[in-house]
Amino acid sequence: MSQTEELRPNEQAVTLAPAADATLRFIGTIHTPWRDRKDCPRQGRLDGPDCQLVLDPVWPDALDGLEAFDTIEVLYWLDKSRRDLIRQSPKSNGQTVGTFALRSPVRPNPIGTSVVKLLRIEKGTLHVRGLDCLDGTPLIDIKPDRCVFSPQAPAKPGDSDTGPQAKRD
Ligand code: SAM
Repeated sequence: MSQTEELRPNEQAVTLAPAADATLRFIGTIHTPWRDRKDCPRQGRLDGPDCQLVLDPVWPDALDGLEAFDTIEVLYWLDKSRRDLIRQSPKSNGQTVGTFALRSPVRPNPIGTSVVKLLRIEKGTLHVRGLDCLDGTPLIDIKPDRCVFSPQAPAKPGDSDTGPQAKRD
């Protein structure tokens, strides 16, 4: 959805000052079979098509160790989204829901996340299944899946204060 697209019944936008964004550094580009948003899945599936995360040339060494994970988390910038809606109507039926109660690409900072299956790494290209974004979507970050990651750094006192969830971060 671009900023100029019509609102659906009862959707609500706000007037925003020009974004003074924190500076993100895109680390590469995502290649998928989808050229049009109407063809993208709403959420990726682990049995979806082979997609590629192509890292910019300085980053391949940053992948060292990642091959040990079957599933990884991918963060990306949903760059074609409008960013000014506070209420949205996913069903276009006049009923609306707050933006932060949705995983819609339309949000103030259009960050998408997916847990994907890591098929293989070839130099600076990761082959994965489980994405839902357009071909050419900018890549923000890659992390091991939090559900299987164990911290490699020594434990900190705060880890025991907050229980097992924090120990995985
Ligand atoms: N899995 C991510 C999440 O939950 O954060 C994204 C979910 S979002 C509902 C996925 C949808 O975003 C796609 O179906 C498509 O309509 C839209 N989309 C995909 N790539 C986009 C892009 N580069 N810019 C804007 N919208 C995009």
